Amino acid sequence: MYGLYFDGKNLTYREDLEKPYKKGEALIKILYAGICNTDKEILKGYHNFKGIPGHEFVGIVEDAPSKELVGKRIVGEINVGCGKCAYCLSGLERHCPNRTVLGILGRDGVFAEYTTLPEKNLYVLPDEIEDIEAPFIEPLASAFEITEMVHIEPNEEVIIFGDGKLGLLISQVMRYYAKRVILVGKHREKLTLAKKWGINTYHLDEVDKLKRVRYVIEATGTQSGFDYATRYVVPRGYLILKSTTAQGASLNLSPVVVDEIHIIGTRCGPFAPAITALAEKRVSVKDMVTAIYPLKEYKEAFSKNDERDSIKIIFEI
Ligand SMILES: [Zn+2]
Ligand SMILES: [Zn+2]
Repeated sequence: MYGLYFDGKNLTYREDLEKPYKKGEALIKILYAGICNTDKEILKGYHNFKGIPGHEFVGIVEDAPSKELVGKRIVGEINVGCGKCAYCLSGLERHCPNRTVLGILGRDGVFAEYTTLPEKNLYVLPDEIEDIEAPFIEPLASAFEITEMVHIEPNEEVIIFGDGKLGLLISQVMRYYAKRVILVGKHREKLTLAKKWGINTYHLDEVDKLKRVRYVIEATGTQSGFDYATRYVVPRGYLILKSTTAQGASLNLSPVVVDEIHIIGTRCGPFAPAITALAEKRVSVKDMVTAIYPLKEYKEAFSKNDERDSIKIIFEI
């Protein structure tokens, strides 16, 4: 089969990859796959990943132990737990210490013709969701994870720092949970898009105009984002962290202690509410697609992904 392969140093397009087979898992033919910032980190050598990257996808089940799944259009939860530990047994495979993660940790991903996943990871898609929208379900699920970790009081305001792919999805989700949602970013075009969805937007230049609120979500993926974010939480409020790229940052935690701020880290999330939100058109993602490339043009795709005004780059596989 063809696909992209990362050997720990270089990413290459290959046509000699072996079609995957894992006993007890479903074989999935990939239709579309999305590029995520985690993929960029992996290609820089983080996580020590080797193999086929990519984890945001939509595909068709070509073979599976349960024959009724064959031919179904699906998306897949990316964490695969051991199934035996206390986390797995309590439904928290996402925290299994022995887990593999699609295209991220010990498991080949979706930038290829085929991948495999256990059946329990798969969600059959309703017809209302278009193929091109489906790769957004995984990052959208991670936006919904915030609502699993923090009870957002409906009479409160939320500020989101970061107008990238994730910040744009989070602001759309938060509209249904908070009285007012404010997105702060530094990309005029992305802020204009958010405004179109009815979200209040502020350019970072005018951030001084903002008042402190109870919930602040940090989704900038930068070190300075954390400092900004702490400044806008009221005492006893919540600072919700979505960026993993700030690892190694030297953080000033004294405002956190002085204002008794709750810091909450959140990562991957539940697929079901993300699928429902997309099917019911409560979240719009199609206008976030910047460009679609065949896998062969992966170099162009990744360099387009780095352009300032790019939001989501999709591979048509
Ligand atoms: Zn991702
Ligand atoms: Zn486990």
